[in-house]
Amino acid sequence: MTQDRAFDFVIIGAGMAGASAAYFLSRSARVLVLEMEAQPGYHTTGRSAALYTEAYGNAPIRALTSGSREFLTGPPDAFTETPVLTPRGVMFIGREDQLGSLDEAFASGSEHVDSMQRLTGAEVLERVPVLRPGYAAAGVLEPEAMDMDVNALHQGFLRGAKRNGAEIRSNAPVDGLNRSNGMWNIHANGEQILAKAVINAAGAWCDVIAQMAGARPVGLIPKRRTAILFDGPEGEAFADWPAIIDADEEFYARPESGALMGSPADETPMAPCDVQPEELDIAIAVDRLQQATTLEIRRIIRSWAGLRSFVADKTPVVGFDPGVDGFFWLAGQGGYGIQTAPSMGRVAAALAIGDGVPDDLKAFGVAAADLSPSRFGQL
Ligand SMILES: Cc1cc2nc3c(=O)[nH]c(=O)nc-3n(C[C@H](O)[C@H](O)[C@H](O)COP(=O)(O)OP(=O)(O)OC[C@H]3O[C@@H](n4cnc5c(N)ncnc54)[C@H](O)[C@@H]3O)c2cc1C
Repeated sequence: MTQDRAFDFVIIGAGMAGASAAYFLSRSARVLVLEMEAQPGYHTTGRSAALYTEAYGNAPIRALTSGSREFLTGPPDAFTETPVLTPRGVMFIGREDQLGSLDEAFASGSEHVDSMQRLTGAEVLERVPVLRPGYAAAGVLEPEAMDMDVNALHQGFLRGAKRNGAEIRSNAPVDGLNRSNGMWNIHANGEQILAKAVINAAGAWCDVIAQMAGARPVGLIPKRRTAILFDGPEGEAFADWPAIIDADEEFYARPESGALMGSPADETPMAPCDVQPEELDIAIAVDRLQQATTLEIRRIIRSWAGLRSFVADKTPVVGFDPGVDGFFWLAGQGGYGIQTAPSMGRVAAALAIGDGVPDDLKAFGVAAADLSPSRFGQL
């Protein structure tokens, strides 16, 4: 391929991060997305809890989440036929010994979300009547937290990117990256592809890709999180219950697809892989949920695990590498990569083409310096 036929950007990974960046970048640049699996979304994107909450995560995460709300609420025409957000509400619950944690949840949530409410134990029980009587001493409600249709959002980004002229290739694992004469030569599936810049959106594998490119890793740690889907209580209309999250995040649960989804909120560090749930974590999930509720979890319909990948400060890494030309990071989305995707994709595209953070996102508090890979120090 000659240099004039080179791609402007090759994006490695077609999960939510790569798909959202492709969607926004392809409006003004020639983009190719390379995905190692047959199915984009096979890894973390397809395994999330699908909750949108603006009271979750640190300040940069909250800014990115709030900045995504407008897109998620009213995506552009032809983006998706189904709504991405539907009402749910999130209720933090705490026992008597967790009242301090609930105070913190309320104080920190209220800094960013005006509608946060404190609830008494009785009000908590009224909203989720299967909690053991007397279990929850109090609660904190984020009424505007939402369920997300992750597939609708992901497919919307991929379809939109294709409409803009981006190419998306599956079964294309990148296994080599070299830079010469100001261009990247990318090896994938026996092919050699030329690009002016590479976007590292490989999820749990972002540090592996960095090493391939000769860039210094950012210390990304993939952490396993387990989820189970189980039968809801017979005779109860539970579809409209809010999600419940333990005040110390030791478990959470919410209605999903006519059943209930639960998680022990585990965070086990692992090497990047096709992670599977461990029996012990499933047992812990069942135990914690049964201690807090009168539910008897007899049948698990499905269990799964996914990798949430974090750097030390738990803030995503978005921007050009300070030591390797044309190498752009879009990593460390942790447990927030779906709810932040519209902002993160836009910021990534803007920074990659040399613009600053869009003004409307700046107004939410999104700052390039918070996200920059330069915060880890130069080579
Ligand atoms: C149990 C669980 C609950 C969660 N709940 C929520 C939630 O409620 N709300 C929320 O916003 N987020 C949630 N998350 C987090 C969210 O799912 C992630 O932040 C997000 O999916 C990360 O997207 P990604 O594109 O970075 O990663 P991925 O989806 O993993 O995509 C990375 C892609 O890169 C590809 N790749 C890797 N190496 C190569 C290579 N060499 N060549 C080509 N392709 C490659 C992979 O195959 C993969 O498809 C949750 C996650 C888990 C596991």
